[in-house]
Amino acid sequence: MPEGTITYGQLRGSVSKIAGGLIAKGVVPGDRVALQVEKSPEAVMIYLATLMVGAVFLPLNNAYTTSEVAYFLKDAEPRLFIQDAPGFVADAETAVALDEPIPRSASDLASIIYTSGTTGRSKGAMLTHGNLAANALALHEAWGFSPKDVLLHALPIFHVHGLFVALHCAFLSGAPMIWLSKFDDAQVLKGLADATVMMGVPTFYTRLLANPAFTRDRAAHMRLFVCGSAPLLPSTFAEFQDRTGHTILERYGMSEAVIITTNPLDGARLAGSVGFPLPGVDLRIGGGEETGVIEIKGPSVFSAYWRMPEKTAEEFTADGYFITGDVGRRDADGRVWISGRAKDLIISGGFNVYPKEIELILDEMEDVTESAVIGVPHPDFGEAVCAVVIGAGDETAMIAKCRAQLAAFKAPKRIFFVDDLPRNAMGKVQKNLLRERYIGTFPS
Ligand code: AMP
Repeated sequence: MPEGTITYGQLRGSVSKIAGGLIAKGVVPGDRVALQVEKSPEAVMIYLATLMVGAVFLPLNNAYTTSEVAYFLKDAEPRLFIQDAPGFVADAETAVALDEPIPRSASDLASIIYTSGTTGRSKGAMLTHGNLAANALALHEAWGFSPKDVLLHALPIFHVHGLFVALHCAFLSGAPMIWLSKFDDAQVLKGLADATVMMGVPTFYTRLLANPAFTRDRAAHMRLFVCGSAPLLPSTFAEFQDRTGHTILERYGMSEAVIITTNPLDGARLAGSVGFPLPGVDLRIGGGEETGVIEIKGPSVFSAYWRMPEKTAEEFTADGYFITGDVGRRDADGRVWISGRAKDLIISGGFNVYPKEIELILDEMEDVTESAVIGVPHPDFGEAVCAVVIGAGDETAMIAKCRAQLAAFKAPKRIFFVDDLPRNAMGKVQKNLLRERYIGTFPS
């Protein structure tokens, strides 16, 4: 066993001890256990121990400031707030181990995940044991996990992607994991030699592709590359295929429902599509048009936002579908295509503009790596379409090119060139920050 290895047997032993430690600290079923810690195996142990004692796991992004954390603690009222996972685990060494989990039913709460909330107050999505189990089993099956797999884990574990999606798939097969405290391309390149599956956000893939040491040979041991949490650019998908011969499997999910759709393991994976709804997921497009807000119902969909009955009611339809806030459409085969968040929709001169439509055109232009299209306040139009572009080019010529392909009201009025776009920890472009940055572009 290489140094630094933890067997599943050892994990089980430690988790039992930590569960005993939680009980000794007064944690009872239904209590919240909040964590804001560095990624570590100990943090995973605390997660499992929390579930084992019937408590509710509440992970917090490391990037949150003290005042943000204060809001979550006030809102969730956890019994414990852990900021040093190895320290907590060391303390639990002397506890009386809990041998068997405290039984829970499918409708019992397992975790609260606070949404990243770029507008308004962050909401705590309440996920039950039934939600997590259903999704884990569906993904394990859909992605063909087996004990022969080795998962390369480089994602953060305060978010559903690294916490539930990745960990549960490995755990259900008792598959080994190569554990990285964060994404580091050199470490990932090393890990790929022994791994079979990696789950990542789009920036993992662009960073790997930016490294010339990432070659077809390096990826030869791999069975599957999964991507999600933010849209994968078709150019990244194509370049990855060229470089490695692997086709990235893109899937779509959110804190409120874990994974909702996935491209197939067997069968065509299409660039720009997030694939088909998972078995048991009922997905429809609201609003009566071809493109509209995606609404879902299914075994992994959360039941409510923590202590926000009104918000919860607003985000479910009368017939029980959760209104995701993502705009998309389904094609004749049933594949789902996402065109962005409803709140990023631009209304210019009374016309609806879907940013994605313009972004796809800009991304095709020479010297453009990636673009983000936003609405900026404008005295005549209400909002004016503007583009923020990683790359270079002639602004006037690029606007003219957009005009040649789009209705005039959709073409950007301005294009701003930048070295990089603001992103959150999951690689999502933070359009709210861009809107703030360019707010004074068209003074009234
Ligand atoms: P979060 O709750 O932080 O996981 O964010 C969920 C949101 O991420 C979704 O509502 C989507 O807007 C976005 N998202 C996740 N996966 C994808 C994907 N494959 N393509 C486009 N957007 C995605």
